[in-house]
Amino acid sequence: MDLTSLTIHELSEKLSKKEVSSVEVTNAYLKRIESLEDRIHAFITVTPEEALKAAQAADDRIAKGDKITPLTGVPISVKDIFCTKDVRTTCASKILGNFVPPYDATVTRKLKEAGAVILGKNNMDEFAMGSSTENSAFYKTRNPWALDRVPGGSSGGSAASVAASECIASVGTDTGGSIRQPASCCGVVGLKPTYGRISRFGMIAFASSLDQAGPFTKDVKDSAIMLQALAGFDPSDSTSINTEVPDYSSFLTGNLKGLKVGIPKEYFIEGMDTDVEAAIRQSLEVLKDRGAELVPVSLPHTEYAVAVYYLVATAEASSNLARYDGVKYGLRVNDTGSLIDMYKRTRDEGFGGEVKRRIMLGTYSLSAGYYDAYYKKASQVRTLVKNDFDEAFKSCDVIATPTAPTAAFKLGERVEDPLTMYLSDIFTISCNLAGIPGISVPCGFTKDGLPVGLQILGKTLDEGTVLKAAHAYEQATDWNKRKPSI
Ligand code: GLN
Repeated sequence: MDLTSLTIHELSEKLSKKEVSSVEVTNAYLKRIESLEDRIHAFITVTPEEALKAAQAADDRIAKGDKITPLTGVPISVKDIFCTKDVRTTCASKILGNFVPPYDATVTRKLKEAGAVILGKNNMDEFAMGSSTENSAFYKTRNPWALDRVPGGSSGGSAASVAASECIASVGTDTGGSIRQPASCCGVVGLKPTYGRISRFGMIAFASSLDQAGPFTKDVKDSAIMLQALAGFDPSDSTSINTEVPDYSSFLTGNLKGLKVGIPKEYFIEGMDTDVEAAIRQSLEVLKDRGAELVPVSLPHTEYAVAVYYLVATAEASSNLARYDGVKYGLRVNDTGSLIDMYKRTRDEGFGGEVKRRIMLGTYSLSAGYYDAYYKKASQVRTLVKNDFDEAFKSCDVIATPTAPTAAFKLGERVEDPLTMYLSDIFTISCNLAGIPGISVPCGFTKDGLPVGLQILGKTLDEGTVLKAAHAYEQATDWNKRKPSI
């Protein structure tokens, strides 16, 4: 049996029946990482020693008959944006190239407490800014389905590592699409929960009013398992929501009878890739076959979403990234000149081009004289985008759209043209502006054999219904079972 082909729920069953041990499975993954990494580059750091120690601890618990969770002994990875105690956390930036956090992010802590085995830290766009993982200060991750293509971004290493079976699941972050878009590009399931559903404590900040963590998995059932382990109030994050976490598995009934699925006309635009459109239209029929009712809805402010996002996100980023000044932690360059000189050189050498572009854009839109015209106006239009969803959800339970306008593009194709790169997130960004949950599930392939993702958006805190719709869709198809032949 190929141990790296199992889902979390399959592995968890085998572990609890003692058919396999966590150490065996962890070794199988470490071997796979070793044999694939020079082609995929999905990891910045691999932690075999820590992983095997955690695996042994999981096996001991199971042997003793101690209480276990569905993640006990399960090998996963996390985006290199989550602080891991005593393990380097770089955010794919030179400025944090040697940063070893003295504490765990809440996400990391919860995974460890659940007994998960952390194999390592995934590559990403620097500070999660990008849609292709080409902005990493380390190297470019490749798409396991086509090595000359990007895995999407910014959580490209997470998506690629799951697609290439270098881990069973991963945790990424999504500020404007960085979980759903790479999930779509790599043919895996990616869930962005409601803003505040999972704690952001210890998750390196990009745009604090948009950032949210979420899982990459091989199927929707695993996505529910991961969300269950990660969701919940955290007093260390003032924006985490203090409300009960439902039992997500209870939503996975396979039946969509009575469910109203909104189809927003603004998301079926002229110029969408024809293969993507065909796959999405076909998947809407599948939802119908499962009992759902398709209803037309409108999200009229969609056309402003990308512009609003690039004002709000860059403004917040310029403020968040002010902390990297060479004083408290991270890179410090030129310790001999003046203090200002040291700041300048540290930031000049520590940040990559895209990060600098965003800091400049954000600083500009927040500056005196421009604030009202840019940041304030963007915040007002953001409310209109949110209101669109509130209105649409009066006539439907979830909304279905393509995740991205195209399948994975070629490495280098959009590097010189940031605007085209920004448009990769045209269908994912509104969800972050509104704070609602969204998932991407594999829904077909282009003629070139590249995966396509179906996005399902839900009401605030209604991850359950999003998972239910995605799961019922998945039950009726087998797109998620196809694997890249790497
Ligand atoms: N691609 C978008 C950006 O570059 C979204 C990134 C994200 O969600 N972290 O900002």
